[in-house]
Amino acid sequence: MQELISATNNKNKLREFREILGDKFIISSLADEGITVEIEEDADTFYGNALKKAKTIAELTGKPALADDSGLIVDALGGAPGVYSARYGGEDGNDVLNRAKLLHEMRDITDRMARFYSSIVVYFPDGRIVTADGSVEGSILYEEIGENGFGYDSLFYSNELGVSFGIATPEQKNSISHRGRALRKLETLLRD
Ligand code: IMP
Repeated sequence: MQELISATNNKNKLREFREILGDKFIISSLADEGITVEIEEDADTFYGNALKKAKTIAELTGKPALADDSGLIVDALGGAPGVYSARYGGEDGNDVLNRAKLLHEMRDITDRMARFYSSIVVYFPDGRIVTADGSVEGSILYEEIGENGFGYDSLFYSNELGVSFGIATPEQKNSISHRGRALRKLETLLRD
């Protein structure tokens, strides 16, 4: 099986990479490679940030690296939190603060339409790039429902599943999620 180094410090993304691609690829973590690195996500697009993460890790390890840059896009907030989803509440990676800010910003808004978006990049040491993306439509709940998943999952009602991502099992979420869709497209591109 081909090895891909997961260019993320987010343990939930790593878990989902393995759940979705684990029977086709060996997904190694940065810890497996003995790497501790903070990559500043300073691009203004999901693709730009995913490319930066994958390229940095491929160059550090000499192995193909897999990166996801993703986020929540809320129509009534003009697309926010968008590329800033991880630090929306003011502290990088603090899901509790992020959800609290989202609920606060949405307190008087009845148009709750939103989607998750994921841009995936695999960067090979020879400079080759393979990329895919995916999205999933839903709406922002008025309060958290369920404790599964991470990030904004407990505030995201999936139109397709008819439940919150906080209630969905990992299998249900991965079958329709932005990341599941992007990774399955990527797998086809890597096979061809
Ligand atoms: P980044 O890709 O490292 O910039 O972080 C993406 C952020 O978007 C995460 O920290 C979460 O807040 C949010 N996010 C991305 N994907 C998901 C998901 O599948 N469920 C819930 N929140 C997500």
